Amino acid sequence: MSRGKPGPEQLDLAAGMHTCLAENDYISSDGVDCRNYGVLDGLYEMKEIFAGLLDVSPDEVILGGNSSLSMMFDNIASNASHGVRDSIPWQRQGDIKFICPVPGYDRHFSICDYFHIKMVTVGMTPGGPDMDAVERLVESDPLIKGMWCVPIFSNPDGCTYSDDTVRRIANLKPAAHDFRIYWDNAYSVHHFRGDRPEIPCILRECEKSGNPHMPLVFTSFSKISFSGAAVSAMATSKSNCDFIRKRLAVQSVGPDKLNQLRHIRFFGNAEGVFKHLVKIADIIRPKFETVIQIFNENLSHLEIANWTDPSGGYFISFNTLPGCAAKTISLCKEAGITLTPAGATYPYGNDPNDSNIRIAPTYPSLGELKQAMEIFCVAVRIAALEKQIQA
Ligand code: PLP
Repeated sequence: MSRGKPGPEQLDLAAGMHTCLAENDYISSDGVDCRNYGVLDGLYEMKEIFAGLLDVSPDEVILGGNSSLSMMFDNIASNASHGVRDSIPWQRQGDIKFICPVPGYDRHFSICDYFHIKMVTVGMTPGGPDMDAVERLVESDPLIKGMWCVPIFSNPDGCTYSDDTVRRIANLKPAAHDFRIYWDNAYSVHHFRGDRPEIPCILRECEKSGNPHMPLVFTSFSKISFSGAAVSAMATSKSNCDFIRKRLAVQSVGPDKLNQLRHIRFFGNAEGVFKHLVKIADIIRPKFETVIQIFNENLSHLEIANWTDPSGGYFISFNTLPGCAAKTISLCKEAGITLTPAGATYPYGNDPNDSNIRIAPTYPSLGELKQAMEIFCVAVRIAALEKQIQA
């Protein structure tokens, strides 16, 4: 349970992708032979599918390989070495920084660490990052070059940004002219209860505010088709896309278009994706419900923990008493349960309260999950008791 991995039954739903291309099926609807080199930024029909998921135009979409995280990494690498739209490379501007809402996604923090980008934390509220803090920091410090955002069903809180938060982000007046918003939309279509959350489109809002090139939107099929063989995408202004295509022309001779074609054949269009996601939601929902029920039964009367109960995404964010997260996780490990390491949801692995634990319920079977969560609750209680005895 250390990562948000789809369970095998979810992956089985896409089994037809193995056989959906016949031997003679390799020409896209616009006449591209997908077996060969070319079409650097991906098949137009696949862009149309992403456009339908992200509510943008296909001309604002660039396709990547199987991982959106690689696209984020690559964009930052490009800005570090060559600058944003030909401005001075970030790596020649001193100790640059990113805003990191916390708790957040550990791999965003690892990318910053890798590029020696200092991480400036801001707290999360139920409606998204603390925007007073974000505005104060971004509008006063020209070394702040980026901000991570997971706007829908954030990792790990499961929070969805309010319309006001989205508009305040779009209306930022950054001190750095080469500031970028990394809008990681990994979970935008992954609701398992209620309707799909609708928030203002960051591209449109940034156009209105006169910041059209500031946002970079990322997503992928990792949690829709196969995590190891998906298609990823980014959406940004058409002019940003032109800059990115220049780099792609040096970097690659073309993506895996047969995999894109497989996705086109299997899902058909964005509507087909939404239909498939209903089946995935039916598998995921009982897992989240099981975890919440076990927490309610075992912990709700004790006042030693709190947790989120999200309507989508891949995580439950659990908070122990201060100083108890690492101990809880190590007790679980002794009992054979691997959880996300303590501190992982904070930059540098440092949760100042040693309290937050990311629960990822999707991979185990329902039976395994039940057993694991019952043991987890015992570990939470032991760690809390030890802390209270010490105090
Ligand atoms: N972004 C967030 C917020 C995630 O939680 C994850 C995976 O857990 C990813 C990105 C990874 O996406 P991909 O598989 O497309 O690289």
